[in-house]
Amino acid sequence: MAQRSADLSISSNTNNQQITLSHPPIQTNLPTCNFKISKPQLAQYAVTLSSPLTWIVTPFLAINPVDLNASYAVAIAENPANHEVSTSSRKKRAVARHTHFWAPGRTLKIAFLNGDQAFKNAVKAAANNWLPHVNLTFDFVEGEEGDIRISRTPGTYWSEIGTNALLREEGPTMGLSPDLRMPAFFAANVMHEFGHLLGAEHEHLHPEANIPWNKRAVYAAHGADEHADEDHYQRSMVDERYFNPLDASAVNHSPYDPLSIMHYVISQDWTEGDFKIDLNFVLSEKDKAFMSKVYPFQQEQSE
Ligand SMILES: [Zn+2]
Repeated sequence: MAQRSADLSISSNTNNQQITLSHPPIQTNLPTCNFKISKPQLAQYAVTLSSPLTWIVTPFLAINPVDLNASYAVAIAENPANHEVSTSSRKKRAVARHTHFWAPGRTLKIAFLNGDQAFKNAVKAAANNWLPHVNLTFDFVEGEEGDIRISRTPGTYWSEIGTNALLREEGPTMGLSPDLRMPAFFAANVMHEFGHLLGAEHEHLHPEANIPWNKRAVYAAHGADEHADEDHYQRSMVDERYFNPLDASAVNHSPYDPLSIMHYVISQDWTEGDFKIDLNFVLSEKDKAFMSKVYPFQQEQSE
């Protein structure tokens, strides 16, 4: 399982009239699979974009293995509700699944390692969209000390998942690309990464997602050979990122939500039939409902 989520890498050029988001390969010189945001959407979502621009957005296929015992230990110490949840399957998994949620009511100290004020303000504004729905406080600070440490990383978006941030003694636990010329796009990505910070996993890996993948196309887009051995590096990265669903226990029984901020964009080319997922720009109702169950306010707890 991916214990850290590294979501996107981005490049841009200024010669084109449209925004292009693409799902390129693990190796950047391989062919890419694109989907496009049309100009009306661009006008709607990226209102301050001042000049024609092409953005290439790349899911960044890096999985950093985490020591699962350490991950479990910090998760339980933080919030006992993260305990292993057994699945209905009688077959024991080699590694039991646990969640990575913080203790409800907690103040999370979130340090900016770098970045200018405009970047920080935009991060805070987007991240704070979660706050009405979670019993947590975000304490944004400057400097190197924080439960969460954000680095301004042009071209990439990634985050540790929940309490796994505690496994890193120093350095960033989240990287955010300063795409402030596309405020809605930037905000969507910040909300997504803060979803990981809160402990959320990817929605397209929901056990009930049933996405009609055209696996051949997805493998091809990532430069992976569909006939490769299952433990072949590139193929296993693609499987992990798109095809291997999470345990039902990992999603706390909330229903599959194609509108989730935690859902990847899925191109029509990558599926059979009529199925695609566009970029979600706001927290969905189910996103809010799920996180308010994980981080209940006192009033709700006592009812
Ligand atoms: Zn993600």
